[in-house]
Amino acid sequence: MITVTTLGTASGKPTPERNVSCTAVFRDGEVILFDCGEGTQVQLTRSQLRAGAIGVICITHFHGDHINGLPGLLGTLQLNQRTAPLVLIGPVGIRRYLRTLGGLGVYGAHYPIDLVEVEAAGIVYEGPGYQIAADRLDHRVPCWGYRLSEPARPGRFDLAAAAALGVPPGPAYGELQRGNEVALEDGRVIQPEQVLGAARPGLSIAYCCDTRPCDGVIRLAAGADLLIHEGTYAPDDEKMAHQRGHSTMADAARAAVDAGARRLIVTHVSSKYVRTDVFERDVRKIFGATEIAKDFDVFELERVDAHG
Ligand SMILES: [Zn+2]
Ligand SMILES: [Zn+2]
Repeated sequence: MITVTTLGTASGKPTPERNVSCTAVFRDGEVILFDCGEGTQVQLTRSQLRAGAIGVICITHFHGDHINGLPGLLGTLQLNQRTAPLVLIGPVGIRRYLRTLGGLGVYGAHYPIDLVEVEAAGIVYEGPGYQIAADRLDHRVPCWGYRLSEPARPGRFDLAAAAALGVPPGPAYGELQRGNEVALEDGRVIQPEQVLGAARPGLSIAYCCDTRPCDGVIRLAAGADLLIHEGTYAPDDEKMAHQRGHSTMADAARAAVDAGARRLIVTHVSSKYVRTDVFERDVRKIFGATEIAKDFDVFELERVDAHG
């Protein structure tokens, strides 16, 4: 299972209810952060997530509400005596940014930071059991959206089918499960498809923040289990949203429809809105599986075969 925690759901500046952008994905013991707005480390201490579990931080762009929390978080990881490497992915300039912080003594990391400066759309990082791809968004400054995808896994081993074919229990089972053919003593060759069920798809999550509606969003969110999309403005505030390089909550819902995503979380909500339940009702008319996130909401994504 993957859990997604929205640690900061405000756009631009924090409010008493909403901190600025950060979303945490937790899978297999590792936290992957998308954006790191000011106060992210404080939000982490108030959540169920441990800062020490962070393996990867993906920064979308250099607007302060998406990156100003990075120096503090990196410094705290240092104070925590971290030794494990940290992967930091961001737009071109992230290397200079980090070097400047280090040069001025703002922080001094003794743990290795593996930097990935994103220069082109495509796969930017291969993690254990997942990969992260980036694609261009349409904002006022260069901005990358990300997609975390798990590869499909081979289907379940069908013991009855194997027995019926006369495959002897033992190493042959493992070979077939790994996708390799096996020759039996009588000369017959068994193909993995004969004993494996349908391939089990992995989960995929797209993170698109900040952006006007654009093709990059649709590519990143194509068939995704979850789209996390900015919805800075009310559903009918389209002109203002697009002028400022942003989306309305309705734009986010239309992107989920167009991309064939399964669920939508709307985040990066303007501080001028105190309540969002009316918007949520309206936006669900466009895409039913929509939730307008609040800070510390936790969303669970189950793999298809989790119970089977
Ligand atoms: Zn922003
Ligand atoms: Zn921005």
